[in-house]
Amino acid sequence: MSFQIAIDGPSASGKTEVAKKLSEILNITAIDTGAIYRAFTLFCLKENVDINDNDSVIALIPKVEVNLSKDKVYLNGEDVSLCIRSNEVSIATSIVAKICEVREFVSSIQRKIANSTNVVMQGRDITSVVLPNAQIKIFLTASIEVRAKRRFLEMQAKGQNDTYEEVLENLKIRDKNDITRDVSPLVKTEDSVEIDSSDLTVDQVVKIILDIVYEKGLV
Ligand code: C5P
Repeated sequence: MSFQIAIDGPSASGKTEVAKKLSEILNITAIDTGAIYRAFTLFCLKENVDINDNDSVIALIPKVEVNLSKDKVYLNGEDVSLCIRSNEVSIATSIVAKICEVREFVSSIQRKIANSTNVVMQGRDITSVVLPNAQIKIFLTASIEVRAKRRFLEMQAKGQNDTYEEVLENLKIRDKNDITRDVSPLVKTEDSVEIDSSDLTVDQVVKIILDIVYEKGLV
């Protein structure tokens, strides 16, 4: 059986960086599941469908192929790694991700990868729905202000001009969408270890998780 670390948490809690470092240290594959939802949503926006019209969105599922390779995300063969990170795509993704059929489509991609290799997979429903039998489950969180500041600095570094207030507002809307949706909402499962990263560096979070990995004798 493959070795699985599942990490869930709200936007900008540090999941991507933590998963990346863990994957390098443990030599396992890191899967950013949000990137798959983002790429599918970008396709919906490109096709000009009304993302609030479930049937129109669902009709696009057979036309989409998303591939992840290292730090790159490919949508039907095109590298979309950068454009899936815009504020517009972020908000739209949290709307599209509410649709059950979309979640089934994305979950099937995720499970296929997880069954073929050792993974650290992060998102919103990994501990609860996608990998309920993962050996390690983490709920990574941080205060909304810390998360907004992190995302704001990240966007500035990429040359995106959103203000701190816009980023904060965007996170609040996405948190609400992700926590209150009917299908696979963001929850902390009973068997998840909660880590508040508000005052921790990425390395400190990684160390906490590595200690759990070693404690359980998984490597
Ligand atoms: O993780 P990231 O912020 O890139 O995810 C973008 C959006 O994709 C989230 O706000 C959420 O709506 C959706 N998502 C999800 N389930 C996952 C990963 C992401 O619903 N496992």
